[in-house]
Amino acid sequence: MSIAPPNVELKPGTIQFLESGPKKLLLGGEWLDSADGAVFESINPANGKGLVQVAAASSADVDRAVQAARGAFENASWNRMSGADRGNLLWKIADLIERYTDELSELETLDNGKPLRVSSRVDVPQAAKHFRYYAGWASKIEGSTIPVSFPNQLVYTVREPMGVVGLIIPWNFPLLMAAWKLAPALACGNTVILKPAEQTPLTAIRLGEILIEAGVPAGVVNILTGYGVPTGAAITAHPGIDKVAFTGSTEVGRKIMSAAAGSNLKRVSLELGGKSPNVVFADADMSRAIRGATWAVFSNTGQECVAGTRLFVERPVYDQVLEGLAADSQKIRIGNGFSGAHLGPVVSEEQLERILGYIASGKSGGAEVVTGGERLGGELADGYFLPPTVFAHHDDSLQVVQEEIFGPVVAVSAFDDWDELVARANATQYGLAAGVWTRDISRAHRFAAAVKAGTVWVNQYGLIDAAAPFGGYKESGFGREMGKDAIELYTQVKTVWVNLG
Ligand code: ADP
Repeated sequence: MSIAPPNVELKPGTIQFLESGPKKLLLGGEWLDSADGAVFESINPANGKGLVQVAAASSADVDRAVQAARGAFENASWNRMSGADRGNLLWKIADLIERYTDELSELETLDNGKPLRVSSRVDVPQAAKHFRYYAGWASKIEGSTIPVSFPNQLVYTVREPMGVVGLIIPWNFPLLMAAWKLAPALACGNTVILKPAEQTPLTAIRLGEILIEAGVPAGVVNILTGYGVPTGAAITAHPGIDKVAFTGSTEVGRKIMSAAAGSNLKRVSLELGGKSPNVVFADADMSRAIRGATWAVFSNTGQECVAGTRLFVERPVYDQVLEGLAADSQKIRIGNGFSGAHLGPVVSEEQLERILGYIASGKSGGAEVVTGGERLGGELADGYFLPPTVFAHHDDSLQVVQEEIFGPVVAVSAFDDWDELVARANATQYGLAAGVWTRDISRAHRFAAAVKAGTVWVNQYGLIDAAAPFGGYKESGFGREMGKDAIELYTQVKTVWVNLG
């Protein structure tokens, strides 16, 4: 097909998915057009061309989805299903994701732009791993018995599902973000309405087909493609939805919280933006630290909420790290995700313009562009390609140092002492993640204790696993996904008092 580079043969399943006509909404187990017939086009960011038409859900479709999800929640085929059986279902979903790895990876690369080897070795297998991990939890969701101060009482707790849960996800890891939320939500017995990002709806739609093939009962998972407004906004304001789990920008997170407060006080969990500090001490293993700092920020073309975008380097090794970072950045191959490139384009023209705006503001604020900074042209001119961009600066108040750019841009500066470092590392509104590179193990732990971040990596960066809790401090959000914590996120506790007297 013309949408991949000329020498790339897409798998038959991928071609069939793209050529089988406009994509619909999954409502009550059926694929349906939106109530008002509205559609939008999903764009391939590597060449700016349309991939396929997708239904744009309206608030009437949100009503339909809530009805389907509520019906399924009350229906015995779901609410009487044992945890063990829900676990089997999740395991089957993981098997099918693995079986369809090739086409899911191709769709992810076409829609998001990321290199095929990343889609096929990270996004898709990690999505399957999330379903397997929560398959195990589904049969282990327990309460406790509680000794109270009154005599003759049996007091116990049970963890019950929230009910109907809205899952609103971003475009940087489309399938994986769906898995992060769907797997624990289903393990806990909820029914859901999933809204993928408008930039990258395709793998969520394909996942919907997989869920049906796995035998997920009708209405348990409803998928509404569409824009933030009206689709996402209608989900957050709907009184029939009990909880919203969101990953995206802090700005939208605020809107979601106030919509939830203004409707039925629905539960909210938010995984939001970041501006994570990554710290290199002079005693670090320099080659590992430089390579690690490079990938900490440029991985996924910088479109990661945990990206190590503020790099603090101890003064004696500042020049060495800056030069090494620039040299490593220049070796990164940028290109179409099917071409063997290390990095693909950014996700959209709008995002490209936003990043270029930040780069211009960094320059005009006095930061020095060490490498990168210009949109790539030539054979990449039709896509949204930017090279890794390294800013050296002396001013933490710059926008490029304070605000989340969500693109391949790092702001590097020197530090001289511990107190200065800790104060500067913590001096943003965000607190999602942090990294530290040092051979001094007690200093590493001291930094982990001092930094206000939900995840800290020592002598590495960016590892995430279904078993390890993940989430933000400060305005990076609240609620912890993954691990046992996500079970708490998707259940509520009921306390039962029995009079034994
Ligand atoms: P990003 O900045 O990464 O694009 P956003 O926070 O804008 O992230 O979007 C993340 C998700 O939130 C997407 O699915 C988007 O459609 C949705 N969204 C955007 N605006 C709203 C809104 N006002 N209410 C609910 N969801 C929204």
